[in-house]
Amino acid sequence: MASLSRLAQIGTSEVKGLGGKRSSALAKAGIDSVADLLHHVPRRYIDRSIKSPIAQIPIGSEVTVIGEVRSVSMRRPRRNLAIIEALIADESATIKAVWFNQTFRKRQLTKGAQVALSGVVESFRGALQMKSPAVDVLDSPSESLITGRIVPIHGSVGEVSPGIMRRAIHNALLRSRPIEDAVPPEFIEAHGLMDRDQAFGVIHFPETIEDVGPARERLVYDELFRLELALAVQKRKQMIEATGVAHEASGDLVRQFLQGLPYSLTAAQTRVLSEIEADLKVPHPMHRLLQGEVGSGKTVVAVSTLLHGIEGGWQGAIMAPTEVLAGQHYLGVRELLAEAGLSPGLQGAGAQMGMDSLFDSGEPAVHLALLTGSVATANYRPDITKAGLLEDIAAGQVDLVVGTHALIQEGVHFHRLGVVVVDEQHRFGVAQRVQLKEKADLVEPDLLIMTATPIPRTLSMTLYGDLDVSVIDEMPPGRTPVGTTLLSKMEEGTAWKLIEKEIAQGRQAFVVCPLVEDSPKVEAASAVAEHKRLSGLLAELRVGLIHGQLRSADKEAVMSDFRAGDLDVLVSTTVIEVGIDIPNATVMVIEDADRFGLSQLHQLRGRVGRGQHPGTCLLIADATTEEGEGRLAAMVATNDGFRLAEEDLRIRGQGTVLGTRQSGVKDLKLADILEDFELLVAARRDAFGLVDSDPHLKNHPDLISEVRAMLGDQVEWLFVG
Ligand code: ADP
Ligand code: MG
Repeated sequence: MASLSRLAQIGTSEVKGLGGKRSSALAKAGIDSVADLLHHVPRRYIDRSIKSPIAQIPIGSEVTVIGEVRSVSMRRPRRNLAIIEALIADESATIKAVWFNQTFRKRQLTKGAQVALSGVVESFRGALQMKSPAVDVLDSPSESLITGRIVPIHGSVGEVSPGIMRRAIHNALLRSRPIEDAVPPEFIEAHGLMDRDQAFGVIHFPETIEDVGPARERLVYDELFRLELALAVQKRKQMIEATGVAHEASGDLVRQFLQGLPYSLTAAQTRVLSEIEADLKVPHPMHRLLQGEVGSGKTVVAVSTLLHGIEGGWQGAIMAPTEVLAGQHYLGVRELLAEAGLSPGLQGAGAQMGMDSLFDSGEPAVHLALLTGSVATANYRPDITKAGLLEDIAAGQVDLVVGTHALIQEGVHFHRLGVVVVDEQHRFGVAQRVQLKEKADLVEPDLLIMTATPIPRTLSMTLYGDLDVSVIDEMPPGRTPVGTTLLSKMEEGTAWKLIEKEIAQGRQAFVVCPLVEDSPKVEAASAVAEHKRLSGLLAELRVGLIHGQLRSADKEAVMSDFRAGDLDVLVSTTVIEVGIDIPNATVMVIEDADRFGLSQLHQLRGRVGRGQHPGTCLLIADATTEEGEGRLAAMVATNDGFRLAEEDLRIRGQGTVLGTRQSGVKDLKLADILEDFELLVAARRDAFGLVDSDPHLKNHPDLISEVRAMLGDQVEWLFVG
């Protein structure tokens, strides 16, 4: 008998067939142990128990064809187009396979190899053909694991082929089985799930295709159960053990603030704010995720939250992912406070003095400061030095500090930190939350995480199962959705004409430059070049440039020129993706739009149409992939961020969404949280119920070891003490 936690300690190099190089290739892909290996389940299965000779395949049907590679060739009829053709034969006939621009096929397909091609069979000029079929290389045809049965196709890992994976997993199963089950049997019975040991055997080497579903279901349940268990323990710890602040405030400050706004809150904002205020009053720390579509008005809610703490004598902090955004938040919050007479406006300390205010000597009611790597300023002392500001924060002279995430990472010492607002949670993982916890000397501040990235409910439930969630599901009145149009590169002139027209009416425009994978340098270069080109094309207009390679002070300067209306067009990289709020900007042009992810496109689109004038988004692209085309079509079809986020999840797959960075735990290997939503709900109910009745899992030490072993070091701290 082997337990999963034991198998998690055995390296893959101990498995027959996975010595040396192979096991290090697996390690690179995150497969370190036998337990990881057993969770590397087949991508698909090919049923070889029924033979289907090529000659008998009906035209138009989607099938898997197995045969030998007879020839492979490549030609380039024009630039940007490579056509790869291969002939595959079995005893009955030959079929031609064609791929476009997949030059790696030339290396993948060697003459004489056995391969399985999956795709739709067509008839082309009287011959059988498949366009862009999926390929599985099958190794030697005589192997017993692949003849006359259902053949599992395990994904290759680096240089390790599906055939090697198949044999290695076969060996690993032989020495691991039977595999112990740590999940309480009553849950398994209640859901009618397959036995765990059997499930591992079946998913890798099924007797029939029908068995695969139930086997997978069992392993998916286990995976989700472990994750939810970790979340349940974490939530319980927060509830019971952490000492937070029970904020006491009359609410007068918040009321004064809200009365100063030129609009009243939407029903959704009011509801969310009362959910937050209920959290603030009780003594255990708030951990709340504030979700809301771009432009739904999260900032006002965040500032109200902070003022609630400030009224009771606590300090607040707002953390943004970048310096530009921190600067932007500082200005935005300062304007908001000024409207209520709680701070001097940007035009000077006297500007708001006519209003009914808490202060009359020019001394702001709320001391607000900005602190980033390069900038230190405050509404009560614009020329303050960094050292001076740090002193004031430590002495409790500052009520509200805006900064980057470095605020909690560097040596900033607060006098009485009571509320923290984090903007854009997707760059703020569990690790940072732990840091924040450590930062708090005696009490843990209340935490509000804002996100403009709409996260499907299913996802937030899995990822942030320990967080409470509030959603602003309503836009302020009078917003018209941003009209979105797709242009081919030939038609780009339309975009420049629209820009000229809007600017003639006093508006402003963004032009976002091509995304270059993982290379801020190259991206900056492309923005520089585009800036030069557009400065020529739009010679009458004032065209500015911003990108990530600029020094912070220069970025600030460009943004403030654009905000002040001293620039008409801003050429930029994705540095403007989040948070930038220029109500006068009405046009967003995104070049090579097919290269951006859906959420990113939606974020960018949200930068326009934020004021009283409707916005337009122009996507310029000649999409070269089906995926890219799909994303652009989705953008044109809907403005609903939640729908787009689900679509994105579908297109991109969940590995990327559930990156370690975000979830703080290893990726889900099997579960598909959209498809397996019901299992997720069941696993969650079971896990939270179990922790309720047995908070320290005293009766389930084997479960604790399993969760630790499978979720990795990141959850270790959950279970100490
Ligand atoms: P988010 O941060 O959710 O993207 P913001 O808080 O920046 O949105 O708000 C977007 C714009 O909507 C801001 O200009 C803000 O002044 C305005 N706004 C916020 N709430 C309301 C409301 N209830 N009614 C009208 N306008 C609002
Ligand atoms: Mg915002």
